[in-house]
Order: sequence, then structure tokens, then C-alpha cells
Amino acid sequence: MALTDKFGRQITDLRVSVTDRCNFRCVYCRSANHENHMPAGQLLEWEEYERLVRILVGMGIRKVRVTGGEPLVRPGVEEFIARLKATGVADLSMTTNAFLLAERCDRLVAAGLDRINISLDSLDRQKFERITRTRTFDQVIAGIDAAQASRLRPVKVNAVLVRGINDDEVEAFAEFARERDLIMRFIEYMPLDADRAWTRDLVVTAAEIHRRISARWPLLPIAHERSETARKFRFSDGRGEIGLIAPVSQPFCGHCARIRLTADGKLRTCLFSKDDHDVRFLLRGVASDENIADEIRSIVAEKEKGHRINERDFVPPSRTMVSIGG
Ligand code: SAM
Ligand code: SF4
Repeated sequence: MALTDKFGRQITDLRVSVTDRCNFRCVYCRSANHENHMPAGQLLEWEEYERLVRILVGMGIRKVRVTGGEPLVRPGVEEFIARLKATGVADLSMTTNAFLLAERCDRLVAAGLDRINISLDSLDRQKFERITRTRTFDQVIAGIDAAQASRLRPVKVNAVLVRGINDDEVEAFAEFARERDLIMRFIEYMPLDADRAWTRDLVVTAAEIHRRISARWPLLPIAHERSETARKFRFSDGRGEIGLIAPVSQPFCGHCARIRLTADGKLRTCLFSKDDHDVRFLLRGVASDENIADEIRSIVAEKEKGHRINERDFVPPSRTMVSIGG
């Protein structure tokens, strides 16, 4: 039976966070300071994830995206991808900062990964180093090269633009998409950063990005599924694609088809949920698959109508992006 919430939205997408650890400290995501990580015993084991995903695939989940933290820092993630593939999920992808991708890409493809999203927030080495607080630019570009040379398709590159930091690179990113014939996606900065530095002024809106790119290269809209978060465009005169993801300026909650599983086994029905739902204790207890499916059904039924970022009384969730799994 399909997984549907009380507003009639059918849930078909699952984000699975496999760790809250990361080898980067992007300014819009993590703090520069030392952070505590989830203790190992709190993390779901691979077989626990697998069981839950199998149950969810049986309930209509078609797309699974493995994320984190940085998913490639958790040992065994390739074997996990193979186990997920065996659940019969139709579309299996990963979001990564690509630092470890060049050396792991072949194994991920062999394990059955279908496609990949890579984060790259600057094409300028020094700025990239300031944003990620690492010196890893060459490895990330090598990761993109490896993905493009592999069977992974499509290759999407994600940038979060923050006003005053990398908003001068809109056109450069568009050129990057054209030159490399890849999908360049711009994600609006959301109030999920560990430093709580987000303000509305720092958000570079999808409308601005569209205006700036189309002033230089005419863009043509591409049809998209209702539940897709990105508005998609191609260049009228060449290769490459642009995706605009506007959770702040043009919320797409009305068509949201997504739930999330955190690395410590909490189900979240919205990035901005106030509460999450512990499914780890069910997995570690005596609950049957049917009991777990029933519990998931009642959790999903209560999925929030929307994220409320634009409401006066909005309060960011206590968990930040790195521990939710973006
Ligand atoms: N470490 C991987 C990566 O960076 O691709 C996967 C996890 S990361 C949390 C997933 C996505 O969330 C990335 O595309 C990242 O840019 C995005 N992200 C992180 N913090 C964000 C924020 N405050 N607003 C919008 N997107 C954010
Ligand atoms: Fe790590 Fe990804 Fe967050 Fe950057 S955005 S700190 S790479 S989890």
C-alpha cells in the first residue's frame, strides 16, 4: 500500500544519512569548532538500514539517496550500496563532497550506484578553501572527473550560494556546466547551519540566479516531475543544464514526496521538523516488519504541511544539516 500523508502527498523519496561525520567544515553547514559526534552505538548498523529500506521499498519508496555528513567517510559504504540495490529500489544515488570519490568511484558503480550529486561551492581554489575549511580543491575536481568518466548518470554538481562569499560565481558555474556538459544546481541557503549565521539577506534567490544566467545565455525550461525540487533549464545554444532549488524563496512543500532517516535511526518527515521519530528502538526490539510498516505509516500521515521558513514565528530545528542528512 502506498505511503501517503494526510494532505494526500505520496511519499516516494528517502534520504538516508549514514554518518554525521564529515571531512569538510563548510561554513554554511558545520561549525569551525570541534563538534561532538554521535557515539558509534547510536548509529544504525548496515543491516538495520537495509531492513528499513526494504520495508520502505515495499511501501512505495522508489528513490533512495545516501548522504551524511560525508557518506564516503563511513567504512563499508560500497557494500551498503550493493545491499540497497538488492532491495529493488528503482533509483539509487549519493550526495558527496567528492574528496574521496576519485578512488572510490569504480567500486560505487560496481556496487550498483545509479547516479551522483557532488557539492562544489566555488571554482576558485582559495574561496573553495575558505568555504570548506580544507585544502582539497584538486581532489574534488578529480572526483568530478571520475564521476563524468564513469557510468554514473546524470552527474549533478550542487552549489550553495551565500551572499558576499560566492555569489559572484553564478556565471562561472553556468560556464562550468556548459563546458563539462553536466547539471549545475544552485541550492538556496537554508537556516540549518551549525553557527546559526543564516539571515535572509545571505540567501541568493533562484530568481536572481535565473536572471543573471539568462542575461548571458538564453535558458529554456525543461519539464520536471511535480515532486522534483529543482526547476530545470537547458541552454538554448549548447550543452549543460541548470537546476534551481528554491526552498526559501519558492517553497515546494505542497509537492514534497520525501522523508529522511538520520544516522541515529530517526525518521524525519521534513528537514525542518521540530520532532523526529525513533525507529532504531523498533529495529532493535521485537517489532515485526509489519509492526514497523504500521508505525511508519502513522508517522508519515502526520508529515508537516510545510517548512514555515517564511513564517514570522519560525524557529530553526535543533538539529542542523550535518546531523539530519541533506
Ligand atoms: N557531505 C555531502 C555533501 O556535502 O555533498 C553530503 C551531505 S550535505 C549535508 C548535503 C547537501 O546539503 C549538500 O549539497 C550541501 O551543500 C547542502 N547543505 C548543507 N548545509 C546547507 C544549508 N545550510 N543550506 C542549504 N544547503 C545546505
Ligand atoms: Fe560536510 Fe557536506 Fe556539510 Fe560540507 S555540506 S560540511 S561536505 S556535510
